[in-house]
Amino acid sequence: MFCAKLSVVLMGRDQNPGTCNHCGKTFSYYLVHNGFSDTAYGYCNQCSYSVSLSAWSAYPHNLNLRFQGPISSEIEPYLKECPCGGIFRAPGGPRCPHCLKEISAVAATSYIEANALGTKKGCRWDRRWDGVYSMVIEDHVVNDWWRSDSALDVRGSSR
Ligand SMILES: [Zn+2]
Ligand SMILES: [Zn+2]
Repeated sequence: MFCAKLSVVLMGRDQNPGTCNHCGKTFSYYLVHNGFSDTAYGYCNQCSYSVSLSAWSAYPHNLNLRFQGPISSEIEPYLKECPCGGIFRAPGGPRCPHCLKEISAVAATSYIEANALGTKKGCRWDRRWDGVYSMVIEDHVVNDWWRSDSALDVRGSSR
């Protein structure tokens, strides 16, 4: 997304309407700027849930975890299952809550730009799901979803 002012708009957690390019049904969503929130994200391989991992919370200290973008495949085994039983995968995009198919980042351009940009000109959605923005659908998000048996590095602990 190429617009500085846009980030402020998107961080408002306002629910915006989107339309699935597969089944045509509508859903609500908001975009997260993972740079501002200092988080990493991933999407379930079966449903519309996403996972958000904060750089400011405990995470396995042996991982080379990068924030401000999508998780890498190295992270996958350390995450709990999605509430639906699926897996949060490094590649992939958000899924429609109705038909559960992956939403096209290109097809999403029309409503993302219409919702987020309003009357502002010169701002464009970058049409990909592995950038700094992630999409939370219907508030289907879990935070810091680490397996309890992961060796957690608690920030601030004496080491
Ligand atoms: Zn759908
Ligand atoms: Zn799921």
